[in-house]
Amino acid sequence: MTGNSLIDSQLDYYRARAAEYDATFVPYMDPALDSVLERLRAKNIRGEVLELASGTGYWTRHLSGLADRVTALDGSAEMIAEARRYALPNVDFRQQDLFDWTPERRWDAVFFAHWLAHVPDDKFDAFWAAVGRALRPDGVVEFVDVTDHERRLEQKDDQEPEVAVRRNLKDGRSFRIVKVFRSPAQLEERLTALGWTCRIDEVHPGFLYATCRPAAR
Ligand code: SAH
Repeated sequence: MTGNSLIDSQLDYYRARAAEYDATFVPYMDPALDSVLERLRAKNIRGEVLELASGTGYWTRHLSGLADRVTALDGSAEMIAEARRYALPNVDFRQQDLFDWTPERRWDAVFFAHWLAHVPDDKFDAFWAAVGRALRPDGVVEFVDVTDHERRLEQKDDQEPEVAVRRNLKDGRSFRIVKVFRSPAQLEERLTALGWTCRIDEVHPGFLYATCRPAAR
């Protein structure tokens, strides 16, 4: 519990959705997969890799093939149980709330997909500070997310129109979650201000891929 109802509701939603996640996510993501894999395989992802918000393991499978070892963090034990089905030999899963996370070691690369849009603006800088602490000096951060193009897919929540959207599960349960749509240009501006140098491209309609390094000091 964080005492922040939207952040708690978001994790509750994913815990409850874990078993039905792939049924909707896979057909949504698969058409863009080849474009994303082209960037993922550009040789930045290697050595010891940290994956954040690893979910059902859709990306973990690919990271496992590129990395020596993968550490995969997710706040939901239910999601981790789904990802374990792939029985990936070089992946260590750990349950971790990413809004209450202080990295205790460093990795060669940090990867996350469909996570940053769930990080609200007021937690954005602290999240990136933690990512910076998790990265070796010559390391790289790569992430996949939606562009603002994907906004049309969501049911906006009138109470918090810019941040919260409503998601429903098959059994009818309904949750509010964070969804902040940031364009590649907005992300680049914000990350530059935090000391990152990024290349962010829309690699497939609606999906962006970012490669970021700490700016040379
Ligand atoms: N990266 C995966 C999953 C994205 S869905 C993919 O692309 O398919 C978002 C993930 O964030 C879910 O697995 C959910 O359990 C996790 N999550 C939600 N809130 C979290 C929190 N506070 N800390 C850590 N993980 C969280």
